[in-house]
Amino acid sequence: MATINENFLKLQKNYLFADIAQKVAQFKADNPDAPLIRLGIGDVTRPLPPAVIDALHRATDEMASAATFRGYGPEQGYDFLREAIVKHDFAPRGVNLQPDEIFVNDGAKSDTGNFGDILGTDNTLCVTDPIYPVYIDSNVMGGRAGDFADGAWSRVTYCPCNEANGFVPELPARPADLIYLCYPNNPTGTTLSHAELKKWVDYALANGSLLLFDAAYEAYISTPDVPHSIYEIEGAERCAVEFRSFSKTAGFTGLRCGYTVVPHALKLRTAAGEPVELNQLWHRRQCTKFNGTAYIVQRAAEAIYSPEGRAQVKETIRYYMTNAALMRDALSKAGLTVYGGVDAPYLWVKTPEGYGSWDFFDLLLRRLHLVCTPGVGFGPAGEGFIRLTAFGRREDCQEAMQRLTRLEL
Ligand code: PLP
Repeated sequence: MATINENFLKLQKNYLFADIAQKVAQFKADNPDAPLIRLGIGDVTRPLPPAVIDALHRATDEMASAATFRGYGPEQGYDFLREAIVKHDFAPRGVNLQPDEIFVNDGAKSDTGNFGDILGTDNTLCVTDPIYPVYIDSNVMGGRAGDFADGAWSRVTYCPCNEANGFVPELPARPADLIYLCYPNNPTGTTLSHAELKKWVDYALANGSLLLFDAAYEAYISTPDVPHSIYEIEGAERCAVEFRSFSKTAGFTGLRCGYTVVPHALKLRTAAGEPVELNQLWHRRQCTKFNGTAYIVQRAAEAIYSPEGRAQVKETIRYYMTNAALMRDALSKAGLTVYGGVDAPYLWVKTPEGYGSWDFFDLLLRRLHLVCTPGVGFGPAGEGFIRLTAFGRREDCQEAMQRLTRLEL
């Protein structure tokens, strides 16, 4: 008799954004004329940079001719892209990686979720709280999270990030094998300095832990002391993998491309104590389960590293961060306490006295027709906050902020 992976039955009933979509759909059905503004889901609104569009056209034309047509490509990505990544994303920061330590993929969500395939099921977990839900849910599916009771998974250590600690998490209070860090952080929009990140690298090296470092929002950093890559910290190549994405950097949420860095120096042990290179295991896993990112999409990704591409990407990021600045300003003027929005496109807004995350979500939806994301959906420490994104159109952000100034509690 065939059976299912029962770990899937342990998952929480609904995915956060499905809950929100359902509430918004109901509201729209009841109020068809309400002018909704969506500042909830983290999707971009600016079109792809012209350099990317040109590269897509050129690569598409190559596919039309027998002489330049490409079929299956290397599972790990074409050399032209892996070389461009190493040269532009890491070398200028003093990080020396080889192209074969880069694994091109169809976006960071897949690999943050899939990486558990090559990790032991007995590993204990640690996440900062609140956090991007994929890290925990994928480990629930993999049978690593334990049981869910009182809002927490039994084999997951949660390191709260809150106002009291300035959103700088303490090291885990109990041993943790797999540690997920996301900086700049989704959802809080906050970052860690070099010294703060070093504490985690030192902990991982001392305890044989693996850091799974998600740098999907790296391109939004403007503060000088904030590392863009975990490998800017000495020794990280021996204890960390890093996930990167072109989604928020260059508008690839629909096109789909990202990459994972797995240094050769990174080794974990078998139960018998034998060290094994994770690069070799991940290579094997990808060869079996992944057939590479589309050629034309990889050419599009390569184009963001051209001089024009770089300037265009910078401009788009400036657009979103101008939104973030105007939103921060307006929210503060409206008497709300706001974090993030300086080195990240997310604003983490404290709910007014007496309102939980979902209460404030409902209030903003009903009274102002604004869609936000309730902070508690990202973990217990997110209660009492909402997340707003700066990825909207400028006019929508301005209108949303206008509406907020009229909010009476
Ligand atoms: N990591 C974080 C922290 C994210 O917020 C997101 C998307 O919102 C992703 C990864 C997934 O990005 P991608 O579009 O590359 O799959």
